Amino acid sequence: MSSPQHIPFLEKQDSEIAAAIRGEEHRESEGLELIPSENYVSKAVLEADGSVFTNKYSEGYPGRRYYGGQDFTDIVELLAVERACKLFNCQYANVQPLSGAPANVAMYFALCEPGETILGMDLSHGGHLTHGHPVTHLSHVFNFVRYKMKDPDTGEIDFDELRETALREKPKVILAGFSAYSRNLDYSKFVEIAQEVGAITVADMAHVAGLIAGKAIPSPFDAGFDVITTTTHKTLRGPRGGMILTRESEEIAKKINKSVFPGLQGGPHMHLIAAKAVAFGEALQPNFRKYAQQILKNAKAMEAVFKKNDIRLLGGGTDNHLLLADVYGSLGVTGKEAQTALDEVGITLNMNTIADDPRKPLDPSGIRFGTPAITTRGFTEKESARVAELMVEVLRDHTNEDLKKRIREEIRELCLAHPIPESFV
Ligand SMILES: *Cc1c(COP(=O)(O)O)cnc(C)c1O
Repeated sequence: MSSPQHIPFLEKQDSEIAAAIRGEEHRESEGLELIPSENYVSKAVLEADGSVFTNKYSEGYPGRRYYGGQDFTDIVELLAVERACKLFNCQYANVQPLSGAPANVAMYFALCEPGETILGMDLSHGGHLTHGHPVTHLSHVFNFVRYKMKDPDTGEIDFDELRETALREKPKVILAGFSAYSRNLDYSKFVEIAQEVGAITVADMAHVAGLIAGKAIPSPFDAGFDVITTTTHKTLRGPRGGMILTRESEEIAKKINKSVFPGLQGGPHMHLIAAKAVAFGEALQPNFRKYAQQILKNAKAMEAVFKKNDIRLLGGGTDNHLLLADVYGSLGVTGKEAQTALDEVGITLNMNTIADDPRKPLDPSGIRFGTPAITTRGFTEKESARVAELMVEVLRDHTNEDLKKRIREEIRELCLAHPIPESFV
């Protein structure tokens, strides 16, 4: 097991919180994390995250702050910005967004007036809540219109419909990005349509940022996208946080800076910005490319096992780090039953609606799972395929307690043989 965090003061002062931290360390080390938005950070990232920068107010931007004492915050934020721009090959980066959702809020207010139109991916076809779902505040402020997949079994986006909608609705922003979609997007088609209707192109790469940084999948910037929003804690393997990148337009970058602060946020979380800089430094190392490639290979290995067992995969398979399986349609097990049974054997993933799901969101037809965290643990195709086989065994016989006991033991052994690493450099 990777060594427990050194927390002597906490242990002395607050045994309840210290015990919860020990519990979480144990849970993470002995169970398999297949939630595709989760990962394990290095000890270096954790150290920056837990540093004295948490004490400091630094409203504003480097060189232009409202409080004194910014000698070291400026160093940290400038390094984070410089590394982000290098990593994603762009001119401007705002590293202050507290997470992915506020990054999107700041982006919308930077690029649109209230009431203006944004064209994004439908949530039920893989989009994110922050892309205008009716339960969000955003949906009352902006006019969200949607596009979908043409065929959920290939994952192909319906670009004819997207174009018609864009011509009719004249969106200010066309948004590409997802949290439950397993194919690569043809970014150049989005750019073409945006140029035709005069829209700004934004990609929300929250899920795939690490794959793009590691050059394992195409970057929206290479196709000419204007802006990228992202989280830093998913495949990018940094601290919890968000970021907004602008390819080359100074005008857009200025609007985004104003929108993040003072438009939306107060003081930036400088300890997290320091941790982001450390994570970007790690992602710039050559071995991060290997990591990103291995995430894809492991996902393909899992895909092969599910296909061999005739379990329907949305999109027909995967080009990225995640898979969506229609377990209800294929095996008669609901998403919730699957999630619970897999939890019992030490495999954590989440139930998920599938496109045009006949079932309800709280007990949908699908499960969503992915390989970023197990790849960080050092799993290759062999272990990934074995995990998929064990998953299928559980799904086929999900109430068999003896089977689950045996599989729980094998999962624990797999975890112990592949401890969470402490460093990636
Ligand atoms: C995860 C995610 C977000 C939100 O990020 P939080 O850090 O949870 O606020 C936004 N967009 C997409 C596409 C995501 O996958």
